[in-house]
Amino acid sequence: MASLSLYAPLDGWACALDEVPDAVFAERMLGDGVAIDPTGDTLVAPCDAQVVTVQPTGHAITLRTAEGAELLIHIGLDTVGLKGEGFETLVAAGDAVTRGQPLIRFDLDRIVRDARAAVTPIVVTNGDRFTIAHRATGTIVARGDAVMTLTAHDAQAQRAAGDGPSATRTIVVPLPHGIHARPAARIAEVARGFDAVVTLAKDGEPVGATSPIGLLSLIVAHNDRVTIAATGAQADAAVEAVAELILHGIKEDAAPTPARPAPPAPRDVPEGAIAGVTAAPGLAIGPAFRWQVTDLTVAASGNGVAAEEAAFETARTGLIAELTGRAATEPAGARAILEAHAAILDDPKLIANTLMAITRGSSAAHAWREAIRPQADALRAGGDPRLAERADDMLDLERQLIARLVGAEEEAVTLPDGAILLADDLLPSQFMALDLDRVAGLAIEHGGPTSHVSILAAARGVPTLVALGSALRAVSEGTTVVLDAGTGWLHPAPSPELLADAQARVAAAATRRADALARAGEECRTADGARIELFANCGSAADAEFAVRNGAEGCGLLRTELLFLDRDTAPDVAEQTADYQAVVDALDGRPLIVRLLDIGGDKPAPYLPIEGEENPALGLRGVRVVLAHPHILEDQLRAILAVRPRGRCRIMVPMIAGGDELLKVRAVLDRLTGGARDVELGVMVETPAAAIGADLLAAEADFLSIGTNDLTQYTLAMDRGNAAVAGALDGLHPAVLRLIGETVRGGALRHRWTGVCGSLASDPLAVPILLGLGVTELSVAPAAVPEIKALVRDLDLTAARDHARAALACPDAAAVRRLAREFAR
Ligand code: PEP
Ligand code: MG
Repeated sequence: MASLSLYAPLDGWACALDEVPDAVFAERMLGDGVAIDPTGDTLVAPCDAQVVTVQPTGHAITLRTAEGAELLIHIGLDTVGLKGEGFETLVAAGDAVTRGQPLIRFDLDRIVRDARAAVTPIVVTNGDRFTIAHRATGTIVARGDAVMTLTAHDAQAQRAAGDGPSATRTIVVPLPHGIHARPAARIAEVARGFDAVVTLAKDGEPVGATSPIGLLSLIVAHNDRVTIAATGAQADAAVEAVAELILHGIKEDAAPTPARPAPPAPRDVPEGAIAGVTAAPGLAIGPAFRWQVTDLTVAASGNGVAAEEAAFETARTGLIAELTGRAATEPAGARAILEAHAAILDDPKLIANTLMAITRGSSAAHAWREAIRPQADALRAGGDPRLAERADDMLDLERQLIARLVGAEEEAVTLPDGAILLADDLLPSQFMALDLDRVAGLAIEHGGPTSHVSILAAARGVPTLVALGSALRAVSEGTTVVLDAGTGWLHPAPSPELLADAQARVAAAATRRADALARAGEECRTADGARIELFANCGSAADAEFAVRNGAEGCGLLRTELLFLDRDTAPDVAEQTADYQAVVDALDGRPLIVRLLDIGGDKPAPYLPIEGEENPALGLRGVRVVLAHPHILEDQLRAILAVRPRGRCRIMVPMIAGGDELLKVRAVLDRLTGGARDVELGVMVETPAAAIGADLLAAEADFLSIGTNDLTQYTLAMDRGNAAVAGALDGLHPAVLRLIGETVRGGALRHRWTGVCGSLASDPLAVPILLGLGVTELSVAPAAVPEIKALVRDLDLTAARDHARAALACPDAAAVRRLAREFAR
């Protein structure tokens, strides 16, 4: 951060504003600063600056520095009453003045005699952008002695970009999880790169866009409207860059997994168990181990401003370096979290608040806690459950920085083997430091399923329940507990029967996994011999290789948008061909279904900006985008047709709502192939319209593949990115199942096969129903191939058909799930 020195504008006694006998200054209503009780008769410029105003009575002057700091110097108190007598102004508004240049001459005797006091406050009036890092008080100063050092809060303040052209733009935030820590860090980074002061506002006061903390405090959720404003030389470019970043530049996984799964129904929780919310599924048995986190003790007052400031800066930059270093070696999920934490540590507002407290005498550790703790409290109080979960990130950083400052090592904890960790809260850094080889599961009193700890636990496959509540505190340390993180309960004192049942299930799951992996290479057939094609969903050649190793018989969905997400320009035909060819080669003779570019809605593509829409999920997305940009469609079809051997790649069109869309794609394909029809063209059934009209689509389509993620969102009218409704977003809803049945029926009328490539195909409870409804191809997550193949192998198709009929008659998704669990036993 750049600093700005101010030099005494008067000879005299420098003191704190508290000593000024006027509440306006003593209580810093106009800003913070120092005061000088003058002994001379000339006020000089404390630094190079521009004169903003000079009071006509000559008793006060305001200045603005090139860095943007605004200063008010008020000669004496109640001197306005002198009506200019005894004051001679030597400069005028608009003048550029240099340090030490005389500004006002005054009659000190007259002031002492006729005004309340001669003491002269020198105040920084835009303290929101500058912190006073040092000040001289309680000492005699001569004109030209250093009297204050200001630190700019942000790069823009340093460039004094507050003046000049301005620009604004209002957008609807498409980010499925709103502006949480990671997007806030990215926005701040982009905003810092421009010669402009950039702000963001939701409903009220704007906040500086360079402050991730300020951005978080806006509590911006998915589909909220925000206004980006900028002033300064690069105002236009800054607004556009921030808008583009928010609209199209931030990749967020809007996976249809319930973002906030509901706790289990009471009937699914065994007697005596504590119900919680699933953060990462799985079953575990082990000794309860209580994980305790106590606040680190810190001294309230410090060892002097300079020492505490230096300690703070060393600890802060050291922690940033450590987090950035660790980020480089972590997988994507953990990396993004560590990077967001590093950005928060660089937050100008947090730094300024800490420095301010240090200058008031706090120790660095105390000042940091005072600065960051209210941010955590504000996030919790904001009313948005997802942002409330980000409070843990603040507490984590509070703790980590204080630990550095007070030299506290986190105690090395020896976990018992296979421990179930019980915690009221677990911070991301604490999770990352755990010896996961010894942890069988996590049970957390607070938290939510989208907190960073939950994301990390899911990525590492550690069964985790959150929101178990205070009942968790009564669990005795060391007792054997059962954690069913799939259904959502923890039993603190399992009966011998419950324990035996859980042990049998854990053992069976381990055997099943080993067995499934050993037989993953076999052809996929049901127990009664029906052939089911078991494919995998891929986003890259690496995915395809992994899928083949797991026994996938092909790729049923290549999400081509994933291949090109990080680019600023659309990929050309040759690049696309190379990428598709790599996937075909990785599949080693197995078929590949290439989905045409599926962007729009919740899927951004920086190289093809789509204007912000009121209802992006109902707007320009999927096939509508490629039909609106014919060159993109044509390039992609050409690239697919260039892959060898010809015909190995099939083509699939996303988000079809009517036959006319398919016919338009068919027309382009026919033109490019000369009508050869040697490449299959299928549709994704993702809208109720496509499901109900499947027979009509099948007249033109070679196959149908159901995208249950979108089909569920559109059938239930529940946004797959909206946390408030995600708990009820279940593809096993009977209405969705009926549409799947309709699709199969419509396809069969035209002798077309129907598959499922949405995530329902990877759900073991759903698979018997899907096959019972007549689905003959499943495209699943690559890691799920062995398990789903094993499940199909044990399935009797006749029984599955009866089961599917019963599912269609259920009143709701929960009832279907119960039925499916019964069927699976
Ligand atoms: C779906 O909607 O089910 C699907 C497979 O497509 P995506 O999840 O990529 O939208
Ligand atoms: Mg989809």
